[in-house]
Amino acid sequence: MQYTEIMVRYGELSTKGKNRRSFIDRLGTNTRNALAGFSQLEIKAHRDRMHIQLNGADYQQVAERLGKVFGIQNFAPSIKVARDLEEVKKTAVAIFQEIYRAGMTFKINTRRSDHNFEYDTNEINDMLGGVILENFPEIKVQMKQPTVTLRVEVRLDGIFLSYEQIPGAGGLPVGTAGKGLLMLSGGIDSPVAGYLALKRGVDLEMVHFFSPPYTSEQALNKAKDLTAKLAPYVGKIKFIQVPFTEIQETVKRDVPASYLMTIQRRFMLRLCEQIASKRKALAVFNGESLGQVASQTMESMAAINDVTSMPVLRPVVSMDKNDIIKIAEEIDTFELSIKPYEDCCTVFAPTAPKTKPRIDRARDYESKLDVDGLISRALEGIKITEISSDDHFLNSQEESFAELL
Ligand code: ATP
Ligand code: MG
Repeated sequence: MQYTEIMVRYGELSTKGKNRRSFIDRLGTNTRNALAGFSQLEIKAHRDRMHIQLNGADYQQVAERLGKVFGIQNFAPSIKVARDLEEVKKTAVAIFQEIYRAGMTFKINTRRSDHNFEYDTNEINDMLGGVILENFPEIKVQMKQPTVTLRVEVRLDGIFLSYEQIPGAGGLPVGTAGKGLLMLSGGIDSPVAGYLALKRGVDLEMVHFFSPPYTSEQALNKAKDLTAKLAPYVGKIKFIQVPFTEIQETVKRDVPASYLMTIQRRFMLRLCEQIASKRKALAVFNGESLGQVASQTMESMAAINDVTSMPVLRPVVSMDKNDIIKIAEEIDTFELSIKPYEDCCTVFAPTAPKTKPRIDRARDYESKLDVDGLISRALEGIKITEISSDDHFLNSQEESFAELL
């Protein structure tokens, strides 16, 4: 079937009262960004629905991208027909010729936005139902949960027919909840945390700490590739890489091994706070999950949070690892996350991190360090790039070469 248009139904935003207009505008912008590669599309975000005119663009390809835009409840590919009931009947029959299966039930559901059209909705329902029954003697009409609902919409510019509804990504349009930073490692959890934050409308920028020469270019590329995996939900994502070598060397040298992890994390959070204030982000997100590893206890979180008053949000805090992995597989980050490129935290991981670090001790150890100097030098070394879904960074040649060694 040659579709001419996609009709998009909004999700939760319909309930947002006064904010509705800005939600719709944002969803319109996000959809345009997500579909920017299809130059022939015409996208109009109206109050109750969005209409995407395909103008010859490939429906499947558009649908694949559209399925990742948060704030969409579902969408329906439709066929535009002239405002002539004979044409509508012909198209309806053609549709059923394509989809008819033995035992099928159906109903016709007509809406009119043009109330001056010569027939009203009941008349149209009856006429179309009649013509389908004539052409398919075995088919039955059923009002409650039929196999197929043929939706007919009479508008000023034509009559639109659709029979399929594709579930959208749900959630809220990215950007409607404000801006946040995601602490993105190369692991399984933080990309999932990022996905969940995006889904609730947070516009995220990635912050990644790396420690050359202890961590390789490939470890950095892995974090960038993970960012590219999240990019389809937003269009483009800023990737902020922060050099962490001097801090890690200093902490390793001057702080007892059991507090290494705590102090490193405190530095990460201080840096995030500074970056957030420069980039007007309101909160920091990370992939910590309670009890998952020794360093992810409530005592540890408290000791880390001690350095900032900014909200530190943990979307996967109460999730089981299996459930996190399930999402990682759905959003296609899992395979990438389990590739064995060393993270800066693993390289400098102490053998026995304190599971219940004390805030006073952490403060005490840090009082002997040049915290401000370390922070400002790390900030000076920041590099920011913009990553989109088509970008690839991991060098696959190098990877297969490594396997040979
Ligand atoms: P992940 O799977 O996200 O790496 P993890 O279970 O391995 O999580 P940790 O390594 O203890 O946990 O890290 C906890 C959180 O700290 C991560 O989820 C991430 O948000 C943040 N983090 C860790 N390493 C880095 C890094 N190199 N750059 C940015 N954030 C990091
Ligand atoms: Mg990790």
